Amino acid sequence: MKKGKIIILVSPSGGGKSTLARRLFNDFDTLSFSVSATTRNPREGEQNGIHYHFLSPDDFNSKIDTGDFLEWEEFYGGKRYGTLRSEVDKKLNSGYFVLLDIEVKGALNVKRIYGEESLSIFIKPPSFDVLRQRLIERGTESEESLVLRLERAIKELDYADQFDRIIVNDDLDTAYGEVKEAVSQFMNS
Ligand code: ADP
Ligand code: 5GP
Repeated sequence: MKKGKIIILVSPSGGGKSTLARRLFNDFDTLSFSVSATTRNPREGEQNGIHYHFLSPDDFNSKIDTGDFLEWEEFYGGKRYGTLRSEVDKKLNSGYFVLLDIEVKGALNVKRIYGEESLSIFIKPPSFDVLRQRLIERGTESEESLVLRLERAIKELDYADQFDRIIVNDDLDTAYGEVKEAVSQFMNS
């Protein structure tokens, strides 16, 4: 069986990664989501093992010590997020394309490791104000978390040029069309 490849959707929080990823999963049955580990609390409706592996800080640290993470980062006031090697390897070895929804630094690390075997797409909001508005309307963040996410977003937007593709998420259908086309080309290359 041919080994799969990695597709990374990267953007500041609220950029539209999860929304675009949901559409990709509807269209590509060879695509599988890499469920990350995190120390943040679950949001309403989020399930352990499906959206994230929700871990205590101690359990997360143990996994760092045993080398279980391909990459991990700490942000938003001490919350940790990491890509588990086991998630990625088992899916790649089964021939799946593995979709990572991760932030900028982690994405650059994964890109460094996988090189040509990965496609990285930076999802860019049309403007900072629109990003802020979408995050507010999503209604998932406390005031404190919102501020931390927006502060980080300002820095993250500077990294856009370092990824394989930049797609502006203004009109959702247009953005999705571009993402779908890029993913389809990569899968067939
Ligand atoms: P991320 O996963 O990158 O944090 P989300 O996919 O959760 O971002 O999107 C943030 C919010 O913006 C969600 O409420 C989503 O429904 C909304 N959204 C995403 N893309 C668009 C778009 N093109 N137009 C309007 N709203 C959008
Ligand atoms: P959220 O708390 O909104 O689910 O995610 C916050 C940010 O963490 C998002 O930009 C998301 O892409 C990123 N993220 C999720 N999982 C990982 C991971 O495993 N590694 C890294 N580096 N970032 C992640």
